Amino acid sequence: MKIETITICGGGNAAHAILPIIRNNFSGKINLFLPYGNEATHFKKIIDEKRFLTATIGEKEIYGRPDKVSKFAKDVCKEADLILMPLPAFAHEQTLLQIVPFLKEETIIGAIPARSGFEYAALKILKDNKKEKVKIFGMQTLPWACRIKEYASKVDILGKKRSVRIAAFPYKITTELATFLTQLLDLKIEPLPNMLTLSLANVGQIIHPGIMYGLFKGKEEVKYRREEIPLFYQGVTKEISETLKVMSDEILRLTKRIKTLNHDVDLEHVMGLKDWLLYSYEDSIIDKKTLQTCFNTNSAYQGLRAPVKKENDYFLPNFQARYLTEDIPFGLVVTKAIAQIAKVDMPIIDEVILTTSKWIGKEYIKGGSLEGKDIRDARIPQNYNINNLEEIIIY
Ligand code: NAD
Repeated sequence: MKIETITICGGGNAAHAILPIIRNNFSGKINLFLPYGNEATHFKKIIDEKRFLTATIGEKEIYGRPDKVSKFAKDVCKEADLILMPLPAFAHEQTLLQIVPFLKEETIIGAIPARSGFEYAALKILKDNKKEKVKIFGMQTLPWACRIKEYASKVDILGKKRSVRIAAFPYKITTELATFLTQLLDLKIEPLPNMLTLSLANVGQIIHPGIMYGLFKGKEEVKYRREEIPLFYQGVTKEISETLKVMSDEILRLTKRIKTLNHDVDLEHVMGLKDWLLYSYEDSIIDKKTLQTCFNTNSAYQGLRAPVKKENDYFLPNFQARYLTEDIPFGLVVTKAIAQIAKVDMPIIDEVILTTSKWIGKEYIKGGSLEGKDIRDARIPQNYNINNLEEIIIY
């Protein structure tokens, strides 16, 4: 695997974090593709003044700057051997459409994190543009919790996962890519056998909508004073943890059904939610007894509050937060769509989708199936003409 130029897409929290991390572990060229709004101009101006983007990780500081920044894909994607998309899932398709004309045949493109159904959209765009030799991968989660402190200047890396998994298409590049990324990102990256695992094992789809549902169902209009804003993870009650457990069990039931229908598909890494928390946060969870205590006593989750928006002197739940706008159409609805193909019922996931999609002003499910008016916006296999399990399990 010869990687001499890496292009990072986007200028959000994750892109800010990844740039100095890569710079510290890679001696080739790093480009930054910033097509969104006036980000490219803004970023260039600040980085020219400050010279470096500084990432703070605990006591340590690391530095980095891109070699080239552009609003235009043709300036920064033509020579890229590896393109990283540390972006919200709703930006994947737009970004891919902009970069696809300029991709070299051997380029590898990765979504960090993939969320669900990334392969359906990416492979269709590559095929439509006759770039089928381009390879793709997705990461199961973002390896860090990170927040921009000052745009193009300072980012805080607050927590780092012990290990993160990736899946790639074609499968044969996965192990070599995982080895390369382990060195590049300074973190253990483990290979997965297929991209379907990424969709089913996308834990954000359970945790984010599930906790939002638990915290705010029936309390949509409640106004909170600043100190009353519910803690997100520490606010997981026994009842909320039971909802999360049932959602996780429904996905495990779907996984089992797919394995029954096709014995060769390897879905061993689709874990129950508690097992995943223990795998990802072994060292930061104090009380490992129950699913609820795994949330409540995880130091990586301490103090994080539910998303809210300010209204006069009060705060209301923010239903336009990514916990719903990303994790419903690029998460739970995709899983529901795969379940519909496999003929598996998911009553609690249906209920969470129905309630939370109303909150975000969308309709995905109608009359029990995926026929709501906004279903075209969700990254479900059916929207890419994939209507049977055989096609879903080949990626
Ligand atoms: P972010 O909101 O900071 O990203 C915003 C950036 O995305 C923008 O600055 C822009 O560059 C780009 N963007 C947004 N809309 C776009 C569009 N329509 N077209 C093109 N570009 C667009 O997001 P983030 O915090 O960096 O998160 C990236 C991904 O990582 C998300 O999937 C998120 O859920 C996940 N994640 C983030 C964290 C974290 O701590 N930040 C933790 C876990 C997972």
